[in-house]
Amino acid sequence: MMSWKGYIAVGATAIAIIGSPVLAKDKPRLILQITVDQMRGDMPTRFANRLGEGGLRYLIEEGIHYDNAYHAHANTETIVGHVTLATGAHPAAHGMVGNLWFDRVDGRVTYNIEDPDYRLLTEGAGVDAETEIDPTQKAAGSDGRSPRAILTSTFSDELASYTAGQAKIFGVSVKDRGAVSMAGHAGKAFWFSKADGQFVTSTYYYDKYPQWVSDWNAKGLTQNYAGKGWELMNPIETYLFGDRDDQEWEFDLAGYGKTFPHEFTTPDNRFFTTYLTISPAGDELTTDFAKALIAEEDLGDDEITDYLAISYSATDYIGHMFGPSSLEAEDNLLRLDRTVAHLFDFVDKEVGLENTLIVLSADHGAPEAPGYLASIGIPTGYVSPDTWDKESAITRLKERFGIAGELLEAYSHPYIYLASDLLDDPEIDLAELEAAVAEELVAFPDVAYAIPSTDIKRGAAPENALIRAVRNNYNTARSGNVYVVFKPGRFINDFDGLSVAVTHGSPWRYDTYVPVIFAGYGLEPQTVRRRVHTVDVAITLSNLAGALPPSGAAGDVLLEVLESQPSQ
Ligand SMILES: [Zn+2]
Repeated sequence: MMSWKGYIAVGATAIAIIGSPVLAKDKPRLILQITVDQMRGDMPTRFANRLGEGGLRYLIEEGIHYDNAYHAHANTETIVGHVTLATGAHPAAHGMVGNLWFDRVDGRVTYNIEDPDYRLLTEGAGVDAETEIDPTQKAAGSDGRSPRAILTSTFSDELASYTAGQAKIFGVSVKDRGAVSMAGHAGKAFWFSKADGQFVTSTYYYDKYPQWVSDWNAKGLTQNYAGKGWELMNPIETYLFGDRDDQEWEFDLAGYGKTFPHEFTTPDNRFFTTYLTISPAGDELTTDFAKALIAEEDLGDDEITDYLAISYSATDYIGHMFGPSSLEAEDNLLRLDRTVAHLFDFVDKEVGLENTLIVLSADHGAPEAPGYLASIGIPTGYVSPDTWDKESAITRLKERFGIAGELLEAYSHPYIYLASDLLDDPEIDLAELEAAVAEELVAFPDVAYAIPSTDIKRGAAPENALIRAVRNNYNTARSGNVYVVFKPGRFINDFDGLSVAVTHGSPWRYDTYVPVIFAGYGLEPQTVRRRVHTVDVAITLSNLAGALPPSGAAGDVLLEVLESQPSQ
């Protein structure tokens, strides 16, 4: 018999319950959320017959695999997808409408998680060889980072709130935005600095590095790759793309090359750490750091559910440089399979997979490289909107509206931002101008849709799945004036300032299609063919952990996961 004071009466003696759970039981000790950057929905099974044991095969065969899962927003970029998975909200609510957006107040393009109030703990760690060519870094007014621009709560925030701050919550990635997004406002984030080859954080999270982080960095694992290179894991004749290593549309970044082996060179080469991230080594380093984190922070060691998010970036970098259908992408997938197998093995020993709920998804998919599609007879191409302001159709519009200066101030994917002075001009009817611009743009050969934001705001846009995705992406403060959708297979040939093989970011299926797989924690294996969305993930985690749904959660609970719990 339990008294109201939490004592059990045994005969005449009252015994205090020491260390007893104060929250409901039967929750996972650890939720491990894996996000594979640019893992399209077909990728986990494309080379299934060559997967090893315990990695992706474990997820597919022993987990609940949703093989019809999609992002429901239009701008399929990294921060947008990560924060959607973290919050279960659409970008309209969580506010991350793109990796970059044009800040009307500051009059400049801003980077999603930049925050001058929270500098990096390691001075200079935000400046690396790519800074000069990378607009996501050039745009940032500061190398400080925080999650403050995320407008709704994440699942991890709700877990922190539910457990009175006792849940241990971490996000880890090569990319700052891959870690900060998932750790939410209440957790801690670490990411890889290409400037010094170490995992770093900002003053938002810590005043000084935990000792174990300094110890991990002092081990110098990054330096161990010096003089080595990325070689094929298996004999070349076993690969689907074994006879297609050298494809002309692949991108040779600063001497990294288009064919195996890709040499990492040595740390005196300023691109040494960048090369590591365009290879399975980036994910291996991330995993090693995550294993140290699990052990040193005692994740999953008590009844309070802990949370660790790992975002793997190599698949994205490799996809951009070589395309998703390349020998590099194929080898990376097989090596990623081994990397996650080692991670799961470690988690099994430390926490037990029966106590760990794993969920894997992706921030976006990817198109095929136009050159690859051309090689199998499918016509596509690249687009460059930079010159649009000079097109005769736009010049005619300026005359019609009496505009002397610029009309299209910025194209910050996927939005056209009209010149700021026009927005305050009482002589100009903004709705009419936006509509006129959209009408001209949609006549351009590579444009499928141009959707005026005023139509979205007024609910005047036509009702179909694609427009819904554009509406889900619309945030009043951050979105531009016209949302431009290129025709399928056409995209701007630009990744962080480089003319690479592939860029994602469209609302077409190849970019929105991602895996969603839940595994571990005694779940019964199942393949679910029903269409689900990435906004369903966070609210499902909340339900499972007993926490509140994240504040902007827009999805549905995935019942297969809830009903498959061991306690049901
Ligand atoms: Zn990308």
